Parts: sequence; C-alpha cells; structure tokens
Amino acid sequence: MDCLFCKIVGGEIPARKIFEDEQSIAFYDLHPQAPVHVLVVPRKHFSSLAQIDNSSEGEALLGHLLGVVNKIAVAQKLTYGFRTVINTGVDGGQTVNHLHLHLLAGRAMEWPPG
Ligand code: AMP
Ligand code: ZN
Repeated sequence: MDCLFCKIVGGEIPARKIFEDEQSIAFYDLHPQAPVHVLVVPRKHFSSLAQIDNSSEGEALLGHLLGVVNKIAVAQKLTYGFRTVINTGVDGGQTVNHLHLHLLAGRAMEWPPG
C-alpha cells in the first residue's frame, strides 16, 4: 500500500518524531500551521476516522490517540491551550488518507476554521 504515514511509521520516510508508543507515533508537521503543529498517527493503517467502527477496540484506539495529544501538551507545556483537529474525507479537508490527529498550539486560534 502506498501510504505516506505508513512509510513514516515504518521508518522508510524520515520525520521529526516527538513521541512514540506501541500503538502510535507523533511527529512534527512538515508544513506547520502554528508554532507547534504535531501529528498523532496510529501505527495501524486506517484510511480515516470514518473507517474506525464503534467496536471497543476502535473506541479504545481513539481514546488512546487523544490521550497521546494530552501527554504531548503536558510535555510541551502548552498551558495556554491547544487545538485538536481530525480532517475526514474530501469535505473535511483530509489530504493524507491515514488517520491522524493534528495538535496545534503556540498562537491564538480563530473560529470558525475555514
Ligand atoms: P490532512 O490535510 O488533515 O490530511 O493533514 C495532512 C498533514 O500532513 C498536512 O498538515 C501536511 O502538511 C502533513 N504532511 C504531509 N507530508 C508530510 C511529511 N512527509 N511529514 C510530516 N507531515 C507531512
Ligand atoms: Zn497508512
């Protein structure tokens, strides 16, 4: 399968890793949209959030990925807050078809997003 984030997980393509555990890795976004812009990615390939079913495994994985966001926020001392985004599908603005959570911080965010 020709998946960019699977290649990063497998070490075929380099990334600036900030965190990893048995289920996930996190690395800096190549085109940061904020002073801190990190992607949290499950090691297992899911093409998007919509591909996760409502099984206990699926929900546990999503909970785990959100927990990783929190861990990074604590480690990076993001005490002024942060934004977590999951783009899903074409209308959601998803460009890489491997589930990932964006963690954005270091500036005041606007609302609504574009
Ligand atoms: P999305 O648009 O939600 O699918 O987000 C994909 C993100 O992946 C974008 O923010 C890109 O800047 C980022 N990206 C693309 N290629 C790389 C790469 N090689 N390393 C790190 N981030 C990347
Ligand atoms: Zn993948």
